[in-house]
Amino acid sequence: QQARFTGRTIIVTGAGSGIGKATALRLLGEGARVIAADISAERLAALQLESGSERLVGVAGDVSLQADVDALVLAAGPTVDGLVNNAGIMDAFLPTAEITDEVWERVFRVNVTSQMRLMRAVLPGMVSAGFGRIVNIASEAGIRAGASGTTYSASKHAVIGLTKSTALFYGPKGVRCNAVAPGAVKTNIEAPFLSAWAAERLGPIMQTTIPAPAEPEDLAASICWLLSEDSPNVNGAVLMSDGGWSTI
Ligand code: NAD
Repeated sequence: QQARFTGRTIIVTGAGSGIGKATALRLLGEGARVIAADISAERLAALQLESGSERLVGVAGDVSLQADVDALVLAAGPTVDGLVNNAGIMDAFLPTAEITDEVWERVFRVNVTSQMRLMRAVLPGMVSAGFGRIVNIASEAGIRAGASGTTYSASKHAVIGLTKSTALFYGPKGVRCNAVAPGAVKTNIEAPFLSAWAAERLGPIMQTTIPAPAEPEDLAASICWLLSEDSPNVNGAVLMSDGGWSTI
């Protein structure tokens, strides 16, 4: 493997499982100092054991809370070169008329507000350094409606808006901000789009056209490409990393 991130400090949220964990491990393998955030201290401890790396700093906390974001950024230190806004949760596949305020507020807090708060916290330092690489994790549900319930779809569409607007404002200052939109990936997230419940609500079409779920490492490869200097001209892009699901 190359070492594209030697000397770089990169924050990864939701690093205790799935896509975030694979990304943290790949970044460590490529030389980065990784600030790994997760709400689960147990998962972070397991990641620490698995990586055995002194360049991993685990910070347990809820990235949807400002106080926990402050603690995370403090642990990273004065220079943050990269940020992967990956932590996210599902919405139980609820259609609009069945959305509860609790689900709406929680999904937006975790999937959208956390990304804004983390970018807000690291951007001033990136602007002073004239260098920053941000990757926000969207979803197939960020470009259309058939992959989740309404709340999750709306939250992932918001992630794409956040990403494009950040790219526009900060691209001229040396910060690139892009989104990766995964299709189905084998992780610990609920996958209601693969369930009988989803089949009943959407009909069989979505079920039969979903490509086989990807490995978290496949997504880590896409995310690390956008964080790296192999993608110098890419800013404000939404990289579909979904095995072609979005072509259907
Ligand atoms: P996962 O559940 O395996 O991992 C997510 C991690 O985030 C968990 O370790 C969890 O503890 C942590 N987390 C959740 N809420 C948190 C919070 N408030 N603060 C800090 N940590 C928190 O899920 P995953 O599939 O790896 O999901 C990662 C991202 O990929 C999410 O944004 C998800 O929406 C997106 N995504 C996943 C899929 C898929 O099929 N797995 C598809 C499209 C998009």
